[in-house]
Amino acid sequence: MNLKIVIIFSILILNFCNLIAQDNYLEIKPKPGDGIKVIFARYDIPEIQEMLYWFVEKNAGKFVGQDGIMISETYLLPIVVYEYNGKSIRSTIENNDFAYAQSIQKYNDKMHRKGVKEGNYRKDHILWLPQFELDSPNKSKTEKKAKEKMPTEVIVDLFGEKYKKVKILSHKLKDCIFYIVSGHGGPDPGAVGYRDNYELHEDEYAYDVSLRLARNLIEYGAEVYVIVQDSTDGIRDGYYLNNSYQEVYIDGSPISSNQLERLKKRVEIINDLYYKNQNSGKKQYSIETHVDSRYTGKMIDIFFYHGETSTEGKRVADILLSTIEDKYRKAQPGRGYDGTVTSRNLYMIRNTIPTMIFIEIGNIQNQRDQIRLIEKNNRQAIANWLRDGLLNAIK
Ligand SMILES: [Zn+2]
Repeated sequence: MNLKIVIIFSILILNFCNLIAQDNYLEIKPKPGDGIKVIFARYDIPEIQEMLYWFVEKNAGKFVGQDGIMISETYLLPIVVYEYNGKSIRSTIENNDFAYAQSIQKYNDKMHRKGVKEGNYRKDHILWLPQFELDSPNKSKTEKKAKEKMPTEVIVDLFGEKYKKVKILSHKLKDCIFYIVSGHGGPDPGAVGYRDNYELHEDEYAYDVSLRLARNLIEYGAEVYVIVQDSTDGIRDGYYLNNSYQEVYIDGSPISSNQLERLKKRVEIINDLYYKNQNSGKKQYSIETHVDSRYTGKMIDIFFYHGETSTEGKRVADILLSTIEDKYRKAQPGRGYDGTVTSRNLYMIRNTIPTMIFIEIGNIQNQRDQIRLIEKNNRQAIANWLRDGLLNAIK
């Protein structure tokens, strides 16, 4: 934590109080000295990526530096506030699961006992429903055993030292395979933008978002192939990403300087994998990311292309679009979002067998779009939004 914030924290002493927020998420005022981890511990929120992302996204714009909490702000927590109907938790939340209701009861009582929740829900009729998994003593032994057997963590060296450990948060995408291709790479930097005397290369930013997306999808149990790779980069938290020309394909073969050769090779690799994986019975998708500059200088919102005859491509792209629209509406009300879904007769889209979604993240030559790229939190947010869209599309 930044020293300045520590000082501000110690000067300002505010009373802690809970407010009921719109969306009915619990809204809290931090205590002096609070950080995300301290708040999570206070409310028994597990410190997993999913929850951390949720917190950072829902409270976007309220952090100092990386993730410093501001005492003057209020923050939403992944806890939904219900009005207790005075009868039972089950009828209040309209869920008949007795063991689940017991775990909710236990949670509310514990929070009240700890002084975190002001009133007893039976009296003040305010019931907290955590949006995370609670430890339930009533879980059957077989269920617990099954959980133990599932891999809880995998190591993906490609993501780099800091991000290589990937916790499996859920198995929602276990029946899906994704081929993630970042545009360009190797001798071809793609579109180039300029900012603060730095050259921004399309391939580097598309690659970073692609790796973040790949990691997000693995967290949800998907099988992911990253088609263009740079073994030294990993997921990078820097502002200006170092430009290199050393990217290769997933099979180690070099990226040609000839455009048609490049496109052919990409298609060939993905289609070979598609045939190899066909017997798995899993749904297969390819996702290609770009940051072009087709519209010189103009600001563009994230938009999508799909194959001209691909109904599944259109369906998934439409859901990605509406998910992002929704995210913007919540994160930046009034901003608007001009993204589109259209078909396009591109070589990659036309020839790749698995359903292809082609994503343009922004215009690398536009000053405002560049902020979407150089801020690591923005690159992560894009990857999170795309993941959420895919989770919405694939059920
Ligand atoms: Zn491109």
